[in-house]
This record gives sequence, structure tokens and C-alpha cells, in this order.
Amino acid sequence: IRVRPLTCTETRRGDQQVVHSLGDGAVHVSAARHDATFGFSAVFDAGASQEAVFEGSGMRQLVELAIDGFSCTVFAFGQTGSGKTYTLMGPLAQSETQPASPALLGLMQRSFTCLLEQSRSRGSGLTLSASYLEIYNEQVRDLLSPGPPCALPLRWSKTRGFYVENQLSVEFESLEAIVSLLLQGSQRRRTSAHALNRHSSRSHALLTIHIRSRAVSAPPAPGEGWGASACPSKQGTLCFVDLAGSERVKETGSSGELSVEANSINRSLLALGKSWGTRLGSPAGPHRSPVTSFVAPPPAGHCISLLAKPRGKRTHIPYRDSKLTRLLARSLGGSGITLMVACISPSSRCLSETLSTLHYASRAQRVTSRP
Ligand code: ADP
Ligand code: MG
Repeated sequence: IRVRPLTCTETRRGDQQVVHSLGDGAVHVSAARHDATFGFSAVFDAGASQEAVFEGSGMRQLVELAIDGFSCTVFAFGQTGSGKTYTLMGPLAQSETQPASPALLGLMQRSFTCLLEQSRSRGSGLTLSASYLEIYNEQVRDLLSPGPPCALPLRWSKTRGFYVENQLSVEFESLEAIVSLLLQGSQRRRTSAHALNRHSSRSHALLTIHIRSRAVSAPPAPGEGWGASACPSKQGTLCFVDLAGSERVKETGSSGELSVEANSINRSLLALGKSWGTRLGSPAGPHRSPVTSFVAPPPAGHCISLLAKPRGKRTHIPYRDSKLTRLLARSLGGSGITLMVACISPSSRCLSETLSTLHYASRAQRVTSRP
């Protein structure tokens, strides 16, 4: 859990701070009618540095596991303006003219540095390449290929699982090269203005680093044939997912085209496991607003809720419900290792979204995979 500081605007208008870290992974939410404590593997409060988040979240270990051939994923989720992009990339995305101070670099740049260091220390054995996609209105688009973004088909095969056809994958060998790919792609990412956050991204973005290590054959130990101590070639991935804001449309004042976007966003998030019907402070049952209606899927429609059940009690996991869950099928349930970073605002005005994010994170925490 990452709790961002109150913004200047929030402080100026006198918002109360309703979220407090109690240490040892406990986070406490206290407001007029709510008083709840949640437990997580780590909580970073407003004072936590970007470095502290990188070191304390297990991100470094995740990079190492990806090098060892595992499929690793980091998710940032939470309402718009809660600090998802800041946590992943630092303030870089907001100002293109001034490079961000190294202390403010996010999980992505820190992971790239760690990856390249490891790559160098292992000799020339690692080949690194990156692909960058966005899911916008249930369309998958390549953020790296030049020209206007066009939709790419999402296919399934027995050997590869779900994959995106014709996506560009660019090899890189330096930090400058991968950071420049990240910047190019982020500028292409669809952003549009609305009440909560002018630069709010209305798309999910997935940056995947593919790590191939060539087979290394060590000289055989006495009594062993060649090959017994050889290290086979491995292919790991490290995927960074910056999810679109999880808030309801009503609260952002969206209409027209924006509500179509919000609908697609919510479709993905619903499939991912967000239970809108049981939100605190809203009537039970599916939520409907005049602008657009979210029809909450049956309880079986939540991948996360389902995955959180003991294996024997699981029914079919509906990854096909959205493009996002299809692309993340492996990291969500199968053989992947996933770090989820739930971002929340400490402000009293965000209370209901904050509680909803914390409930979602509690559920996500119970998901186990078999890497
Ligand atoms: P999101 O991606 O969730 O919509 P952003 O990452 O864009 O949110 O953050 C919203 C605003 O809050 C930005 O101006 C960002 O710089 C600021 N912010 C977020 N997290 C922090 C933090 N931990 N420390 C300082 N500022 C932050
Ligand atoms: Mg963002």
C-alpha cells in the first residue's frame, strides 16, 4: 500500500487526513462513520521515498526472479490522482522539459538500472527487449510502433497462451535507450482532461521487458558428461502495469466520449475483481448512474475473488472477460509472480474510493500462484 502526501490543493481546502500507517504493515482509516484497520505486507506512508518503496516492496527480488526466467508483474492500481504513475515512473511523465531528479525516479527506472547492472555482471549472457502496449476502449494498441496507434489482435495459442500479434519488441542495452522508449510510449498514451486529474490516463499501459539468457555450458565436473552442469536458456518477463483510474464515472464528472472510456476501463477492472456492488456507502446491488450503467457481473465474474478461493473450490476463471485479464492471465493465476501496489490518497474526500481500494487489495493479497 502506498499512501501519497496530501496535495497543496487538498491542504489548502482543509481536507482531513483520514489514512494513517500504524507500522508493521497495518493501515488505519478513521473518519466520522468509518474506523477500520487493514493488514498488508508493506505500507508506505507520505514520508516514504521512492527508494524506500523500491527496496521495501520486494521489487528488487522481482527483477532477480525475472532474470531467473519467471514471469513477473507489477501492478499499480487505485483511483485517479492516487499516485500510480508517480510510483511507477516518478514525476517524469508530468514534465517533459526538465528531467526528474534521480531521487524521484520510480519503480520502473530503478528496476531497469538493477536489470542492466545484473546483465553486465553476468557478462553478455542476457538479451533485453521491451514492448509497450495500452488497452484503450478494449482495444490493444502498440505504443512503440511509429505512426498513429492502430489496434492489434489478441490471439491465443496452446504454447504461448494469450499474446498480441505483431507487437513491436525493441532490443536495448542501456538505461538511456529504455528510458527513451518509455518516454516515447508514454507520450503516445491516451490522456484526456477531466475533473479529478487533468493528466489522468484513461488507458491501461503495459510495459514488458523480455529477458532472454543464452544457454551457458560450464566445463563438466570430473565424472560428469557435458551438459550435466549446463545452464539451459531461459526466458523471463518483467511487466509493469499502470492501470487507468478505478473511480466511478459519477465522481469524475465524465460524459459523452469519456463515459465510453470509463465504461471500458470499468469493464477491465470489474473483470480484474473490483466489486462495485459491495462498495461502502452505496446501496447494495449493481450500481447504476444516469450517465452510464455498470452492470455488476455475477460474483463469479471476478478473477481476483475467484483466485482468492482455495484451489479445490475454484470454478472457471473468466480471463476472457476483458483484454486486460487475457493479457495478464499468466501473472494473475498461473505461473507468474505478481507485486500489487495499491495507491491511495489520505484525504477525507477520497474516503469511499480509499476503502474500496483497500478492500480490493485485501482480496488480491489472498491470491496465490504456482511459479
Ligand atoms: P495517478 O497516476 O494515480 O492518476 P499520479 O501519479 O499522476 O496519479 O499522481 C497525482 C499527483 O500526485 C501528481 O501530481 C504526483 O506528482 C503527486 N504524487 C503522487 N504520489 C506522490 C508522492 N508519493 N509524493 C509526492 N507527490 C506525489
Ligand atoms: Mg496515472
